Amino acid sequence: MQIELLPSSFDADGRASAAQRLTCFLIDNRVSVDAGSIGIALSEDQRRTVRDVIVTHPHMDHIASLPIFVDDLFGELKEPIRIHATSQIIGLLERDVFNDSVYPRFAALSNVHGRVMEYVPFEIGKQFKAAHLSVTAVPVNHIVPTVGLLVSDGDSTIAFSSDTAETEEFWTMINRAQRLDALFIEASFPNSMRPLAEASKHLTPAMLRDELTKLNHNGMDILAVHIKPAYRDTVINELKNLAIDKLTVMEAGRVYEW
Ligand SMILES: [Zn+2]
Ligand SMILES: [Zn+2]
Repeated sequence: MQIELLPSSFDADGRASAAQRLTCFLIDNRVSVDAGSIGIALSEDQRRTVRDVIVTHPHMDHIASLPIFVDDLFGELKEPIRIHATSQIIGLLERDVFNDSVYPRFAALSNVHGRVMEYVPFEIGKQFKAAHLSVTAVPVNHIVPTVGLLVSDGDSTIAFSSDTAETEEFWTMINRAQRLDALFIEASFPNSMRPLAEASKHLTPAMLRDELTKLNHNGMDILAVHIKPAYRDTVINELKNLAIDKLTVMEAGRVYEW
């Protein structure tokens, strides 16, 4: 399985900037997990192959350019963009984003080939398919309804915490999986800002360390993501100081493979 954290921005030479402001993981050039930068960072080839989008929660950094992505492709889509989310999250997207006020209600619109966007609700704890991937979602602990994900292509298995503070079901789900090749876990704020991390339901490096004690798998790669750009250097230092085996900071624009 190939995974890329899509860049949030590019420098003057077109190189991906390290700072992560938006969240969008591209899997095998076909499926995206969240869609923060989907409308600005895909290559032309990727724009033709990504038709499945899993939305973990409706926060702006996770959906910012999703409406732009659908808009750009409106005339050429031969199949709909499928938005996989819980019914609750779909309801929030319809109420707050695709509401004919912020942006068109694309799920009700068609081009000459048919529908341009379609909601595909999934149930908590029940495996579903997104393109070639098998996915299971459970609630995590964030200030809006949010899911963490376990994703498998039949060979490799990876997990995404999404945005969360201390959580339980996510670890139970992962511990039940036969194998785990990589874990993508958030580390938003430095340790000194723990009160804000707790209020906004995010993790600090120290909280991340405590969360990892709930994990029974060994030897997988652990990639820290969702580091607030303003505190990036401090958070990276604090993550290094944890001295956890195979814990690294995920680089935007780099293709990882498991
Ligand atoms: Zn969030
Ligand atoms: Zn976020």
